[in-house]
Amino acid sequence: MAAPSMGGVSLPRGNGQTVRLPRGASLTDLAEKIGAQPAALVTALFHLGEMVTATQSVNDETLQLLGAEIGWVIQVVSPEDEDRELLETFDLTFGDEGDEEDWEARPPVVTVMGHVDHGKTKLLDAIRNTNVVAREAGGITQHIGAYQIVSELEGEERPITFIDTPGHESFTAMRARGAKVTDIVVLVVAADDGVMPQTVEALNHAQAAEVPIVVAVNKIDKEGANPAKIRQQLTEYGLVAEEYGGDTMFVDVSATTRQGIEDLLAAILLTADASLDLRANTEQDPQGVVIEGKLDKGRGPVATVLVQRGTLRQGDSIVAGDAYGRVRSLLDEHGNKLREALPARPVQVVGLTSVPRAGDTFLVVEEDRVARQIADRRQARIRNAQNASMRKRISLEDLDAALKENRQLNLIIKGDNSGTVEALEEALMKIEVSDDISLRVIHRGVGGISKSDIDLALADDVIVLGFNVRAEGQATELANREGVDVRYYTVIYQAIEEIEAALKGMLKPEYEEVQLGTAEVREVFRVPKIGNVAGSIVRGGTINRNSKARLIRDGAVVADNLTVESLRRFKDDVTEVREGYECGIGLGSFNDIKVEDVIETFEMREKPRD
Ligand code: GDP
Repeated sequence: MAAPSMGGVSLPRGNGQTVRLPRGASLTDLAEKIGAQPAALVTALFHLGEMVTATQSVNDETLQLLGAEIGWVIQVVSPEDEDRELLETFDLTFGDEGDEEDWEARPPVVTVMGHVDHGKTKLLDAIRNTNVVAREAGGITQHIGAYQIVSELEGEERPITFIDTPGHESFTAMRARGAKVTDIVVLVVAADDGVMPQTVEALNHAQAAEVPIVVAVNKIDKEGANPAKIRQQLTEYGLVAEEYGGDTMFVDVSATTRQGIEDLLAAILLTADASLDLRANTEQDPQGVVIEGKLDKGRGPVATVLVQRGTLRQGDSIVAGDAYGRVRSLLDEHGNKLREALPARPVQVVGLTSVPRAGDTFLVVEEDRVARQIADRRQARIRNAQNASMRKRISLEDLDAALKENRQLNLIIKGDNSGTVEALEEALMKIEVSDDISLRVIHRGVGGISKSDIDLALADDVIVLGFNVRAEGQATELANREGVDVRYYTVIYQAIEEIEAALKGMLKPEYEEVQLGTAEVREVFRVPKIGNVAGSIVRGGTINRNSKARLIRDGAVVADNLTVESLRRFKDDVTEVREGYECGIGLGSFNDIKVEDVIETFEMREKPRD
């Protein structure tokens, strides 16, 4: 069977075969899989009405549409799916097993978020110190990334787990990696200040993740504290206090005097009971999420993990992200050795061969060998993804892909002082390019570009601007590895110019048809193997080989979407024939050509913008 021809380039037909592609693949990736020329796929997609470049990532639907057109069934595989399949090859699944009725209730896992200086750290300290049981247990409380306290509700002792990294860092880092850890968000708002940009951001993060919120109205000990104002302000964001008829619990607290802390803990438990049914199977193979990982001088790689299901024990063979090993010891936040850890329990695991990343999942497997094999396979995949990631992530030069569906440019602004950050943000917000493209600053702050900024950028496809500051510590490495676009400026107008140029680039290119030439058919030749060729005379402009063409008969368009596939003068192939000259025009597999038809050639040109 002859290869079908689209736009003059032949494509290998799939005949319904399936081809698998990772999410965010480009036409070049597809071309590689099916043995086609990337340019041919670009052309084919153009005929379907989509303009993309060969290396731009293409969304799932478009890939599938293109696949259908050329006879391939395209299966888009997300990284999560890939990992699921990897685990399946070992007969493993990440998730709950068994009958829900047999599961046991588990404590809620809480993340504290809110605007800087509203008291997140202080509140986490205050909560940690209310813990009677911990004091009895002795031991010095250490920061291991999470801790569990026991609170009393209606005479019953109830544990609650807190993620001990305040702010959005941990939350977004986890979310960026697809891990769902937090059951409830405590949103801290200082009563003497009010709802601030990061308050709104935190709220957006929580709502996007569909996590219930408890509001801690903090610093009520301070003069000028106005808790009622906070309630009022938050109604605008859909958080209506119970006392105003809504379903969000607001608790007035002071992290300094510890007033209201018990009420806050009760509110957390009541919210959990009212809107969540937190259960886990304690019997299955243990699984969970890495909260933080570090290299300890004495103990080697140490990871704080949160057990989500099963019971983690000393001696278990474990794989966490691309790290593996055998659990040598389990330590709680007081440095006490534990024999086992139940769901929602944060523990330090010693015994891994390398340091996993926050947000990695962990699984316990039967044998060390299996743990190692899974880790090896993940390492290989991470390397592959890294090679590809540079072009997958958004950058100022290649914005169009990410903005296809979402016509918004997200920015993070970091600067050396709040004045310049504000000035830059204000100036950027004044840029106007078009109604359907917007600029959004999702985070701003004073200080160097931190790892958490990059994590946030990863979760939402963001460009990070550093004004008189640089990336700190691991941030540069992470940004490079993940291909996050970080730009440094020392002059405001330069930043504005670049962003403005980027926004202009985001405008969908507009194309207009430009007529190139017309030719009248004088005679039709049948050429073996090629088909009908139109012996024509060029009536206007020029006819070019490979240009797009349509056929007109008696003033009506008979066929559109044709291509001048062959062009000859006498016996010679030529690329161009001018007005007044005769030539032979072949329109590929299109054979319905008659004397007196008119062939019109044209091209699509991008309209320049002003
Ligand atoms: P974070 O940036 O949200 O973690 O805020 P911090 O916990 O570091 O607190 C910021 C400042 O507010 C510190 O100086 C705290 O001592 C102070 N602070 C926190 N909570 C309270 C409170 O309830 N009352 C008073 N008066 N000060 C507080």
